[in-house]
Amino acid sequence: MGKVTGFLEIERQEARYQPASDRIRHFREFTLPLSEGEVAKQAARCMDCGIPFCHGPQGCPVHNQIPDWNDLVYSDDWQEASRNLHSTNNFPEFTGRICPAPCEEACTLNLENVPVAIKTIEQAIADKAWSNGWVVPEPPDEKTGKSVAIIGSGPAGLAAAQQLARAGHDVHVYEREPKAGGLLRYGIPDFKMEKSHIDRRVVQMEGEGVQFRYGVNVGKDVQFAELVDGYDAVLFAGGSEDPRDPKLPGQELQGVHNAMPFLVQQNRRVGFENAIPETPVEAGGKHVVVIGGGDTASDCVGTSFRQGAISVTQLDIRPVPPKIEDKLMTWPYWPTKFRTSSSQAEGADREFSAVTLGIEGKNGKVVGVKCARGDAKRQPIPGTEFILKADLVFIALGFQGPVKEGLVEQSGVALDKRGNVLADEQNYVTSNPKVFAAGDMRRGQSLVVWAIREGRQAAQAIDVFLTGASTLPR
Ligand code: FAD
Repeated sequence: MGKVTGFLEIERQEARYQPASDRIRHFREFTLPLSEGEVAKQAARCMDCGIPFCHGPQGCPVHNQIPDWNDLVYSDDWQEASRNLHSTNNFPEFTGRICPAPCEEACTLNLENVPVAIKTIEQAIADKAWSNGWVVPEPPDEKTGKSVAIIGSGPAGLAAAQQLARAGHDVHVYEREPKAGGLLRYGIPDFKMEKSHIDRRVVQMEGEGVQFRYGVNVGKDVQFAELVDGYDAVLFAGGSEDPRDPKLPGQELQGVHNAMPFLVQQNRRVGFENAIPETPVEAGGKHVVVIGGGDTASDCVGTSFRQGAISVTQLDIRPVPPKIEDKLMTWPYWPTKFRTSSSQAEGADREFSAVTLGIEGKNGKVVGVKCARGDAKRQPIPGTEFILKADLVFIALGFQGPVKEGLVEQSGVALDKRGNVLADEQNYVTSNPKVFAAGDMRRGQSLVVWAIREGRQAAQAIDVFLTGASTLPR
């Protein structure tokens, strides 16, 4: 701990944003980083408390050694801070940008509502490491002669691939899409995380021996049996892609869409990919209503504003968070993980306790969304109905596990009660002893940081399966 009184003297400061009126004119990242000196001051706020909840079970899923790298940043040893950070997290520039930072919620200083700005510091360390050329391929000294097929190149598949390649195995990543990244590339918009961050990691991983096989849908283009026979182990990291269907009256009307195709189209457009439909979903000049309160919904809000929507209203079934001294008690101050995203701050109207009753239409097209206020059990309260004008509606209500058709059905692996691939968090092995599972495909829809953790831990379990022991960290 560098500065004993730092937390008493220095105010919390996070990275700033471009004003909303500027940032909605483009799709690029809009965070304005703090200077190195400012970041070092923020690191000095860390108390290195005796019980650092930030990296315990309630805090960081990858157990980043946060007090240690805060101290290193404060002491101006950024390269060692980067080494420390990379020892627990393969991709800190991803999480430094888009993690909801459960570490900050768990920070002891959050008792006073002013946690250490851990996420801002993490991004600063990772960005400095890249710009100073400290992030380089780390190929293994020796090869094991064992091979692993990884299906899916989202954060879980990428983290597992990097760990397994560094352990000396031959790693082939099969990806259905033309590029790597999973939801990092095709779900999450560039304004939250530009795709160049993924591209340079792919280059690093290729330098470590990982081979990427793009445009291959396993279960369709390649049979599961071929992979399971051809490799010593297989990792399923295919994500959780089956959208929840609310079965609303009027859902079939023109202008009502699932969120994902809209986000994927815009990401492909920004990435100059050509697989965009002839009549893409466009929010420009429209009144948009987004049904849902999570990250996917927020990303529809931000994307709609950037496409030129006239208005964007977001419907959230949860009650409005409490206010203290005019400050809405959203995350990290309110312990229910209620967050206000930068997209909502771009001018969205948020309706809380809003139960969607159905979609209203005229001549086959959507014209509005019928809602009511919900009670404590989220049931509509009679007499509270209202209609919101809409000519474009996005359904963003989450996902109910992996798509079963194709890979999952073909492999015959057992599923859990929620329809995810069944595998425990210790060994990550499925009902087929050669097949492992990690990330959203095993855990259900979650977060990037959990996908990285699961990829790392599954890699360690696979290494033990292949060689009888492992020096990989968990
Ligand atoms: P995915 O990222 O889903 O990757 C799975 C990959 O497997 C995909 O590339 C897919 O094409 C490939 N694949 C699937 N089946 C096959 C097959 N048969 N053959 C070949 N390839 C296959 N989390 C955060 O922490 N912060 C956020 O801000 C955030 N925002 C989000 C926004 C949106 C719109 C969404 C949908 C999710 C968001 N999340 C966020 C959640 C996060 O993106 C996921 O938890 C994470 O990406 C899961 O990683 P994964 O590797 O398990 O799966």
